[in-house]
This record gives sequence, C-alpha cells and structure tokens, in this order.
Amino acid sequence: MPSASNPATPSHLFRQEVLALHAYHVPPAAGLVKLDAMENPYPLPPHLREEIARLVADTAINRYPDPEARSLKEKIRAVTGLAEDTQVLVGNGSDEIIQLLALALARPGATLLSVDPSFVMYRMIATFTGMRYVGVPLTENFDLDLPATLDAIRHHQPALVFLAYPNNPSGNLFDAEAVTKIIMAAPGLVVVDEAYYAFARSSFIPVLSQHPNLLVMRTFSKLGMAGLRLGFLAGHRMWLEQLEKLRLPYNTGVLAQGVAEKLLQHHDVLLQQAAQIKRDRTWLYERLVGTADVRPYQSEANFILFRAMHANAVFAGLKQRGILIKNLNGAHPLLADCLRVTVGTREENERFVVALQESLHVAQASSGGNQPLSSV
Ligand SMILES: *Cc1c(COP(=O)(O)O)cnc(C)c1O
Repeated sequence: MPSASNPATPSHLFRQEVLALHAYHVPPAAGLVKLDAMENPYPLPPHLREEIARLVADTAINRYPDPEARSLKEKIRAVTGLAEDTQVLVGNGSDEIIQLLALALARPGATLLSVDPSFVMYRMIATFTGMRYVGVPLTENFDLDLPATLDAIRHHQPALVFLAYPNNPSGNLFDAEAVTKIIMAAPGLVVVDEAYYAFARSSFIPVLSQHPNLLVMRTFSKLGMAGLRLGFLAGHRMWLEQLEKLRLPYNTGVLAQGVAEKLLQHHDVLLQQAAQIKRDRTWLYERLVGTADVRPYQSEANFILFRAMHANAVFAGLKQRGILIKNLNGAHPLLADCLRVTVGTREENERFVVALQESLHVAQASSGGNQPLSSV
C-alpha cells in the first residue's frame, strides 16, 4: 500500500484496463501535407468565414451553451431528413457518443461487438469502460463475414454492435442486406456509424424507423468540421432518453453549436466540397491502380486503403518527401502492407502520387528486389 515513504504511483491507483491501454497516438504533422486523418482539405469561402467571424463576435461566451442544443438539432434534422419519430443526441464528436453508449451499456459482463479491422475507438472505449470486446474478422477483401458475425452474435449476445458504414480503414460499404440481417439478429443495440456518409452512396437513415434496435451515428468531422467536434446519434426516443442522462450537460460549446448551425445553413457548400473530393477519389484510385506494386481498394469514403510493397519504407519515404499518410502495416493481420491515404486537394494528390512512385522506387532499390505483395 502507498504510504509517506512509499508514495502512490499510477499502478497503485489506476484501473488495470487503463494501465494496459495505449494512448490514441496522433503524430505531429507540422510542415507536412496532411493526408492521414480524413480531413476535408478545403477552407471555407470568404463570405462564409466573414459570417462566422460576425457570429463568433456576437456570441455570449460568458453564458453556458444551450444544454439541449435545440437550434442546432433542428438544423441537423432538416439537413439529414430525419423522420418525426426519430430523436437526436448531440455529442462532442462522435467519439464521445461511442463512449456514452459504452458507459450506459457496460453492465457486468456486457459485450461490445464489432468487426476487425475497423475503427479502433470501438475496442479502446469498450476496454476502458469495462465492456468485453469481440471483433469478428472481416474477409480478406474487408467484406462482412456474415455467418461468422451471426454466430458471434448468437454466442456472445452483445449489448452493443458497431458497424462503420463505410468502414474505416477499408473504405468499403458492407453489403446492406448483411447489415440488415445483423440488425435483426442482434439482441441489443446496433449502431451504424456513418462517419463518411457525405462520400457514400447508401445510408441507414431511411430505414431507422423500421428497426427499433437501430441507431445511426454521424459526425461532421469528415465533412469539414473536424475542429468543431460535433457528432450526433439518431434513433428511437426510448434509447436516447436514457443516454441523455449520461451526457454531460454542456458537452458541446456555444461556439461549436453556433458555427456548426451556420455551416449547416450552407450545407450545399460542404456538399460541393464533398463532391469534389469524390471526383478526386476516382482520380487518385485510378493513379494507384496504374502504379506498379500497389493495390488499392475501392472506397466510398474520403480516403483510399492500398497495399504497397515495402509498406514501412514507402511510408517513411513519403514522410521524407513531406507527405503524411497512415501506416496500417502491423495494425491487424488483414492489414499487412497496408497504407491509407486521405483524398486531399488535386495538388496534394498529385504531390502524393509523385512521392509515392519515388518512395516505391527507392524502397525497392535498397531492398535489392521485390517480394510478392502479401495476398491477404
Ligand atoms: C473519424 C471517425 C469517427 C470519429 O469522428 P469524430 O466525430 O471526429 O469523433 C467515428 N467513426 C469512424 C468510423 C470514423 O472514421
């Protein structure tokens, strides 16, 4: 036990789950072309920036924000096209909503189930909220393994299932029928995480009312508001009422609420940027298809996952050339040799493609030749 001569240390005091965690690592990006975090690369048009400046100047920052974010929620309902019977909960980023759900459902022995590889926060938050985490492996093309997922649901009876749609880090949309079967088989809540909805062809928002245990989560981070930290959860009042009790009353600040509301009034601006990103995604995908020793995966998000020969060396080579992407090699067996690049501006993408080709070339020359690209 700690005492005056034997002072307290974290290992005396902290929960084992916390001690065992590795902090979510965000690498420094100063001076680099930042293509690692699925941010929208475009600034806002000048007229909108001026409107925001006025709005910020007029905001009463001495007052607490509206704890229910009523005005922002109305805008969210309008741009999302939510049905009357659907409720909205607003979070400080959707990460906070994942945490809220896990905190609420972490009864002793409760399980959070997702698929692997997927968004790392599902596992991390399950761990520190004391939930058991079950990750069902995807197929080698990152599709749902429906029989294995249904088996795992039967066996583990998860209180909470997370499915990222499109998935991160693979970028694909899972088969919607398979997702529906999972929703219908799950004994608990199923959250479809639509962080990349602005870049995808399909959504579960239209079928929310058909599935009482379905919740759809979205964030505005990937649409161009990563710095504001705003996400929301949509679903049946019965669930959201309980979650509201856990939400800290002022979880979203007055500036975030006000600026997000303003941006949603100009949703078209953000959607046009998203449309440009989708066109550039196609351009980038084609360049990657045409690059020797690289195999890209088709994406419905604002990033592309690809396998590259000598992935670690290529990642380092890109960084040396001023470009930061995400190295996923080693993060999961299915991600051997995988790198993930966010779609940037046309100029950033062009710089990336050139730097990638140089890095591949150097990596090969210094390794003395090619090994076959991992086939997993
Ligand atoms: C980026 C991301 C989030 C988190 O978004 P924030 O709202 O910025 O916290 C959630 N889910 C997935 C799948 C993501 O990729």
